[in-house]
Amino acid sequence: KAKNAEQPEFIQAVTEVLQSLEPVIEAHPEYEQAALLERIVEPERVIMFRVPWVDDNGKIQVNRGFRVQFNSAIGPYKGGLRLHPSVNLGIIKFLGFEQIFKNSLTTLPMGGGKGGCDFDPKGKSDMEVMRFCQAFMTELFRHIGADTDVPAGDIGTGAREIGYMFGQYKKIKNVFEGVLTGKGLSFGGSLARTEATGYGLVYLVEEYLKCNGDSFDGKTVCISGSGNVAIYATQKAQQLGAKVVTVSDSTGWVYDPAGIDVALLKQVKEVERGRLTEYAARREGVEYHEGRGVWVTPCDIALPCATQNEVHMEDVENLVKNGCKILAEGANMPTTLEATEYVQEHGIVFFPGKAANAGGVATSGLEMSQNSERLSWTFEEVDAKLKGIMVSIFHAIDDAAKRYGHEGNYVMGANIAGFEKVANAMMAQGIV
Ligand code: NDP
Repeated sequence: KAKNAEQPEFIQAVTEVLQSLEPVIEAHPEYEQAALLERIVEPERVIMFRVPWVDDNGKIQVNRGFRVQFNSAIGPYKGGLRLHPSVNLGIIKFLGFEQIFKNSLTTLPMGGGKGGCDFDPKGKSDMEVMRFCQAFMTELFRHIGADTDVPAGDIGTGAREIGYMFGQYKKIKNVFEGVLTGKGLSFGGSLARTEATGYGLVYLVEEYLKCNGDSFDGKTVCISGSGNVAIYATQKAQQLGAKVVTVSDSTGWVYDPAGIDVALLKQVKEVERGRLTEYAARREGVEYHEGRGVWVTPCDIALPCATQNEVHMEDVENLVKNGCKILAEGANMPTTLEATEYVQEHGIVFFPGKAANAGGVATSGLEMSQNSERLSWTFEEVDAKLKGIMVSIFHAIDDAAKRYGHEGNYVMGANIAGFEKVANAMMAQGIV
């Protein structure tokens, strides 16, 4: 802890994983002998770099870029690039650490990594975003490659940014290869990648419901966020017969008692890059509230899809009071540690992000396969593979929790199932 004192999110993520792994370490003294835990919490490599670019007024801006190559035991490093002013080393390390286990759960051969920059794309012109992306890639290119490290999108990094970064990589390296995922369809992107995280989240919960003789049909769902994950979780949940009544952004939230109008939400957020105030202004019967507060709304299923530590104690107290049955994390670590413990103790079934939102990286893995084959699969093929992966993730975490005597504890199940494969690979590869 002392070594990482300035990295609270990283310490939070490691604490949760290590607590879950206690019974595994007890059952496998050889892991302790091989200092497996000490090794797994230390990134294989951390890269920090200067990103200088010129804004529209001719002024030079300097940002700080990061790539944390955390663990390559089971495949090339893989994980998104976050562009947000809050980005710092601790946040990238927390995300990279989580990514190791998430990628392992997908059953695909991908190691764990994460990167990003404290650049804020909000309010920047298209040309500024392009110049920034080019400057960022001008350093990053030397550390990545289709068989080394394959970054993807994350908060602030969508199709536009991936396109600019890919263009710059190709220009510098003179190689057309699947070095980034989330690419445009005309240059190696995969159908269904845009939908994958939100759809995958809903597929995982659907499988749990199915195993308990239930379904999404007729359920009321609360979602936070209104970005990529939130939009497609809303769409799929409603396709399965649920009613999604909330979405949010960092300034406020919407209560739409008739169920979110996905077409309007996509128009406002994806096409116009606007705010939720504009959604509320264009639709009858919608309430808009400033600030945070989604979780005061009664629901059967809560799907936080905005950002880390957005669900606090008072939120989960409200969820429990209002009879919520399931909380599945679309975002990475949206629920604080104490709130996670509270929901588990109060009968809400809890699915951690590393299992519930793994559909995005799983489909990125499918994009890598298509790039290697130089083939493109249909939307239906990718969607069916995604669904199969989410169903298998549910059963893997359910089974791991049962094997260690913690049936229904999907935090433990996900950490254990994700860890086992990486641990075996690290043991086989020696002390490196
Ligand atoms: P986007 O940038 O598309 O959307 C993020 C959404 O969350 C926006 O609506 C944003 O509002 C809101 N938000 C951001 N910060 C806050 C905050 N502090 N309080 C309230 N709302 C906030 O990101 P994604 O949808 O891609 O990602 C959301 C989460 O899911 C992240 O944790 C990400 O790491 C995780 N994730 C994403 C994957 C993907 O495939 N996209 C895969 C796996 C995980 P505003 O517009 O005001 O900033």
